[in-house]
Amino acid sequence: KTLLDVKNLSKEFKVGGGRKLKAVNDVSFSILEGETFGLVGESGCGKSTTGRTILQLYNASKGQIHFNGKDILKMNKKQKYSLHREMQMIFQDPYASLNPRLTVTEIISEGMDALGLYKGDKAGKYERVLELLNKVGLKKNHANRYPHEFSGGQRQRIGIARALAVKPKFIIADEPISALDVSIQAQVVNLFQDLQEEENLTYLFIAHDLSMVKHISDRIGVMYLGKLVEVSESVELYNKPLHPYTQALLSAIPIPDPKVEMARERIVLQGDVPSPMNPPSGCHFRTRCPHATKECQETVPALREVENGHFVACHLY
Ligand code: SF4
Ligand code: MG
Repeated sequence: KTLLDVKNLSKEFKVGGGRKLKAVNDVSFSILEGETFGLVGESGCGKSTTGRTILQLYNASKGQIHFNGKDILKMNKKQKYSLHREMQMIFQDPYASLNPRLTVTEIISEGMDALGLYKGDKAGKYERVLELLNKVGLKKNHANRYPHEFSGGQRQRIGIARALAVKPKFIIADEPISALDVSIQAQVVNLFQDLQEEENLTYLFIAHDLSMVKHISDRIGVMYLGKLVEVSESVELYNKPLHPYTQALLSAIPIPDPKVEMARERIVLQGDVPSPMNPPSGCHFRTRCPHATKECQETVPALREVENGHFVACHLY
């Protein structure tokens, strides 16, 4: 069953001098209930903006977003508000996203308070906080401490507990492990996976690096300059990347097995990502693509299903 359906979503920002920045450009994908969809791309590719637009932190410029069958762009203020009971976000920087003046209990209670849960039932709310702390691997005696007393990984666990507090169906995790030590990343990914089972969660898991979403994602979407360029089941994407950009991203991930490593050619992309203010005509990737032709300069490639469940936006296919 489809939980989230995003169709032709665009988000533009006005940036002075009457100019517009197309941060998200005609993006379509859907996420099934219980699934983890990884959204990957370099910084500035529009992946966070996509997440924030779905959560209604930004108004969409164009397109449709259906959640649980409901058109969320047509909702009134009150309906959008109650949507936050079902959709929660976890942010990249666990420190910046926690108010330093609030205790862990107060932080975790924020969402419950905003939605009026446990109104007048202080003891019940505190019980719930302790239950959540336990769920994310923190201790009871952490409840009355302040964010600065915790490590990065622990702070991210507090952020996760805060998101879970209102029992959401769907969580958008915006680079939740990027700011953490490599040694802690796997633990937090494991926590995400355990919680998914326990709480029947669906995830949109945003990352800048394919290696970070490899183990957690059922399917993956790759973005470049505001466009979704490839969508596929995760294993298929790793074994058979079709888009030249995905191929380059994957070639940069070290493989532990030296024999495989030697067999695989590292693709080094030329040049920098062009400014999203002024993307190249035709295929946005053409200025860095080793296979670019004249057609790539003239025509925008549409995202097409070229194999069962494997979509790519490239004229080579
Ligand atoms: Fe490269 Fe052309 Fe494919 Fe774009 S459409 S990725 S430029 S081959
Ligand atoms: Mg971001």
